[in-house]
Parts: sequence; C-alpha cells; structure tokens
Amino acid sequence: MMNLTSNKVIDIQLVQSNEVGNSVRMEKEGFVRSLTMLEERGVNVEAIVTDRHTGVQTFLREERKEISHYFDPWHMGKGIGKKVDELGKRKSTQDAGQWRKSMVNHLYWSASTSSSGQEAVAKWTSDANHMQNVHTHDNALFPRCLHGPLVGEGSRVWLKPKNMKKTVFYPGRVSVVFRKGPLGFLRQDPSDEARRIKDDPSMRDRSAPVKEETVRQNALTVVRVRGGDVTDPKELLGEYILQFGKFKGKSFRWLLENDVGYTLYLIQSHQREEAAGTVVSEGHSKDSLMSFIRYALSFQEINSLLQHEAQKRPVPTPAAEDDQQVGFGARASSTWREVWESRADGYAAFILKKKCAPGTKMHKLQQYLQKRQELSSSSVSSSPVPSTPALPSSASSAEPMEMEDDEELERAMLSISTATEPTDIPLSTPAPVPELQKPSGLERCSLVSCPRRSFLDTFWSFA
Ligand SMILES: [Zn+2]
Repeated sequence: MMNLTSNKVIDIQLVQSNEVGNSVRMEKEGFVRSLTMLEERGVNVEAIVTDRHTGVQTFLREERKEISHYFDPWHMGKGIGKKVDELGKRKSTQDAGQWRKSMVNHLYWSASTSSSGQEAVAKWTSDANHMQNVHTHDNALFPRCLHGPLVGEGSRVWLKPKNMKKTVFYPGRVSVVFRKGPLGFLRQDPSDEARRIKDDPSMRDRSAPVKEETVRQNALTVVRVRGGDVTDPKELLGEYILQFGKFKGKSFRWLLENDVGYTLYLIQSHQREEAAGTVVSEGHSKDSLMSFIRYALSFQEINSLLQHEAQKRPVPTPAAEDDQQVGFGARASSTWREVWESRADGYAAFILKKKCAPGTKMHKLQQYLQKRQELSSSSVSSSPVPSTPALPSSASSAEPMEMEDDEELERAMLSISTATEPTDIPLSTPAPVPELQKPSGLERCSLVSCPRRSFLDTFWSFA
C-alpha cells in the first residue's frame, strides 16, 4: 500500500495461498488486511487506485462504497495494448494494429488532463472517431479534437467501419417496446394512456371500420415516409390501425406497447371460439382482429406469456364441475351443484337469463346450469326451470351485459359498448344490480342458447 501524496510505501502484507484457499484470493486478502490496518489506526481513506483485480473491485463496491475507486492508467493501457495486438494479427482488422501506441498514449492523456471522470471518458471515447478521420464529437465535454490539421506525418491509415458497407440501414425502423415489470415479465395492466381511453368513452374512435386493403396501404405509406423497412411484416403490421374495440384508431404496435392484457384477452377469446367451433361473421373488424392476432402471435414475448397463462389455469374436468365455485356475486362461495339444487330460489333462472361473454365465470356457470336443465327436462317434466325455445338473439342483443366481479367480462363489456352504445357506462360506475327474479323461463341467454352466435358476433354486428 502506497501513499500517493508522499510517494511512500506505508504497508506491506504477505499472504500465503493456502491461508485463503487459492492464489486468486491472495491479492484481495492482502488488500483488505492493509486497508483494515489503516482504518484501525484512524486513517480516513477517501480514494484508492488499484489495478483491475475483480476481487478488489467487488470488495470496494460492496463493502466500502464511500471510498472512490480508481484504476491506474498503466494497467488499463497494458490491457488495451494487448487487445489491439490481437486485432493487428487478424487480417480483417490488421489496420487497427498501427494505432496501438497512439491509443495507449491517448488513454494516459485523457486521464491526466481531465478534471472529472466524465471528461476523461469523453476524451477517451473520442479516439474511435479520430481513428476514422472524424475530429468533431457528439459530446459537450469534448466536442472536438485539440490537434491542428492533420497532413503528412499526422495523417494515418484511417479506419473504416466494416458493417456500414454491407447491411442496408433503415434509419426509421421502429420496433415494439414492451412494458416490463422489475423482474422482466411483460406488464399486463394498461398503460396510463390506455387507461384514459378505457375510462373515457368520448376519446374513442367511432368511425366505421375500413377494409383491410386500405389499412395496409396506409401502413405502407407510414413505414415508407419514416424510412422503415416495408418488407418486414412485423414493422408493416405494427402500423396497421385497429378497426375494432375500445382502442379503435390506434396502431397494432401501440396496442402491444400499451395493453398486453387486452391483447391476451383478444387472442384467448378467439382461441376459445375456434375450440368451440363457433362461426364468427365476416367483416372489416373481423379482418382487423385476425391480422392483429397474427401480428401479436409473431412475438415470442406474447407466445411465452400465453403459455404461462395456459399453465396457470388448468381446464376443469367435467367430473369436477359439480364442485366448481361460483366465484362472483352473492353466491360466490356456493358450488355449481348447490346453485342447481337450490334452483327453487330463482338464482339459477336468474343466471340462465343473463347475457354474458364466453369464458367468464358467469358464462361457465350458465353452461353448466343449461346442461343440468336439459338433462332433467328430458326425463322429468316438472323442472322448476322449464326449458323453452330460445328467443332470437337479436331480440336481446341491445341489452347491456351484466357486470360481475370478473375482469374479462368488464373488458368484454367495454368492447361491446363501444360498438353498440354511444353513451356507454364508464368502468368506474358499476352497472345496476337487478333484483332476483322468479323463474319465468321465457328467455335465456342468447349467446348460450344459440351456439352459432358468439360474443364476437354481437361485437361485429355493427360493422
Ligand atoms: Zn482527431
């Protein structure tokens, strides 16, 4: 240990490798012993200069945060010299070898003429420009080289960046920036902007959906004008404008960047429909949804999130249906069977009449009750919930859907209300809870009773 102000060696430590397990740990051990000795004698150490031994670096960073830690230029210069030597040996980078001496000199000069670390870094990194015959720099701390015009002796073999020649460069290329949580997982909650649109129906685009080809042409123009790559499907689809739902008018890329949760919901709803074999009507909105799903599924991030979600929700086996919990509303803790067996109280009939989105808790209970009802009405005619032919779905499609404590249903409501009702209910205002009704048996949920209709049908019907 040396005091740099007096230029005197103030401590020496002798460490034997078997004291610390192996020779790599000796240097740090000696360093710690010296430093502890100094501190015990009341020396207040403000700054330390060492080589780049990693054990010492870690120790100072974690155990002695208050001490400023510097590396000495001799060791730095030696390391850089070695790397440049390696470059000089390879054919493709051999020109760099000629710069070895001036690079190491420049490092010393950067360290010795600077009054702050940032200034030293600005001077040091300017060398990359200088070696390419560029002498002005994009850094306010060192905006230009201090040398005069370089001719004759000063002129060198200037380096040329290799990559620039080969790859076609799209300065306007834009890629999706996903919002991630602290652990690196995609955030599924809406962004502030998405939330504002969600909460304020007046912000939504209510114009008629346009056809896919128009959407594509617009996207081509946007990508071309900003200098992007129109041959990259991800970049092109990213500029497609959504033709459906509460975020209509926003781009596909915007939706991925602002509401991954809604994206998952759209994909999952579509997958459920496909699995159920329900036919969905055609239309510009539908084309837009299909393109968006294709776009979203081209991202590995979205796929792994879907896989993760699928593992989280095991599909209940039919045998266990009886024991499923209702999970919402006044009968949240009842099982499905209990709801069916106590149907004389009218709750089962109440649920059967509700209009709700597929995949929600209410919808699942509804399907179960319907199955029970069909089974019992085929054998016993005195069922308390008589089975009657369903009303045409159009008769009740204008009714607002019921709120339940289910985020998916809320989302479905918002999407549907965009399409049908100009004066829809903001999410913060709960829908009025209807009174329990005596079983009337006159109507049932149009979505369930007519399997060829679906929530998306209702959704697209405005298109
Ligand atoms: Zn220069």
